[in-house]
Amino acid sequence: MKVIVTDKCQGCGVCEGIEPDVFVLEGDMAVVQMNPVPEKYRATVQEAADSCPEEAIEIEG
Ligand code: SF4
Repeated sequence: MKVIVTDKCQGCGVCEGIEPDVFVLEGDMAVVQMNPVPEKYRATVQEAADSCPEEAIEIEG
């Protein structure tokens, strides 16, 4: 799957707290560490997307 953090991100760090292998804060935005993201991360990436207060995480595929 492809994972995108849009410019709605406010850098709260919730996603990094849920899945730090995929999401890392750089400055005041979360950055996706790999694309495509391996399937083994799907559950936690989905949880991060569902938990993001800005709805800034998009999953494709
Ligand atoms: Fe950005 Fe959402 Fe991650 Fe917070 S949870 S750092 S707003 S992508």
